Amino acid sequence: MINIPDRLIQEIGGIFGRPAESVLFTHVNPDGDAIGTMLGLYWFLTSMGHNVSMIVPNEIPFFLEWLPGCEKILVTEDSYEESLKAMKGAELFICVDFNEPERLDRLKDEFLQSKAVKVLIDHHPGPKDFTDLVISVTDAGSASELVYNLIRETGHHDLIDKNIAECLYVGIMTDTGCFNYNSSSPETFIAVADLLEKGIDKDRIFSLVYDNYSADRMRLLGFSLNKKMVVLPEYRTAYIALSREELARYNHVTGDTEGFVNLPFSIKGILVTALFLEKEDYIKISFRSRGDFEINKFSEKHFNGGGHKNAAGGEVYMSLEETIKTFVNLLPLYKKYLGSE
Ligand code: 5GP
Ligand code: MN
Repeated sequence: MINIPDRLIQEIGGIFGRPAESVLFTHVNPDGDAIGTMLGLYWFLTSMGHNVSMIVPNEIPFFLEWLPGCEKILVTEDSYEESLKAMKGAELFICVDFNEPERLDRLKDEFLQSKAVKVLIDHHPGPKDFTDLVISVTDAGSASELVYNLIRETGHHDLIDKNIAECLYVGIMTDTGCFNYNSSSPETFIAVADLLEKGIDKDRIFSLVYDNYSADRMRLLGFSLNKKMVVLPEYRTAYIALSREELARYNHVTGDTEGFVNLPFSIKGILVTALFLEKEDYIKISFRSRGDFEINKFSEKHFNGGGHKNAAGGEVYMSLEETIKTFVNLLPLYKKYLGSE
């Protein structure tokens, strides 16, 4: 059950209700929840009379590009000056689906220095203190579900139209792995039922997100599972590491490896999975865990990362080989949690 204190509902209701020059931000390497939440809020605030810009630090995965309004999002990597311009006259900044300013990447300093009123709307544990108002609800399975609740509880349910419903549904669907996790609460399904009432076509949305890959991506998936997956049964762990050369061989584009990290969970007994991707000057890591093992803490402690208890990520500036070695060498320290079945 998502419980949002009355005081926060009142404060955010006041902010929603005062049309302003507003900028929405989400995190680097945006996923379906980041973009879905941002766009859902964009359409909502626009209909409330706000003048809204949207900024994301880097590339939006291709399978989200069809979302209504996606073409309006400024990608800082490609439009740095435009992003700064949008921030300059703004009165209100709203951050969605992240909880620390580092996730804003290049815009961090400008963000922090701005005089705009800053609001955080997020569901990751342990938000950093960098905004005036913090709406941090870790019980929400997705930031989209949280925004749905905020719109409802501030009395604007009637403004949820098909556009808003599509965007928020994508956030809920992707952050719950199509309702496989983060979706145990009946309220999530009540929210989804309500979004369906707004006329969205959930089968079409599924297809636009998940049946939209290239043949190369499917071959990369096959290669990753067949040749690259390493299983360490003694630590109930499995990982996949892909070098730049391997990714290039399959014409990898952003978004192609989405979901790879979850696949080893299909192996009986696996509790921890990792995906290591070699980028131009760093290694991007995705971690997942099952049960009590707090992978966000593990990632924060050892891999400059963070996230949720069972889904986290990080970045390190070492070689792919060193990163894997560091990871594998850490596992014995956690044997207590990863012991035999
Ligand atoms: P993914 O593995 O899908 O990139 O990310 C899983 C979760 O971990 C998401 O909630 C995401 O926000 C968080 N996450 C991913 N990478 C990082 C990172 O480098 N730093 C932090 N703090 N969180 C991350
Ligand atoms: Mn999320």
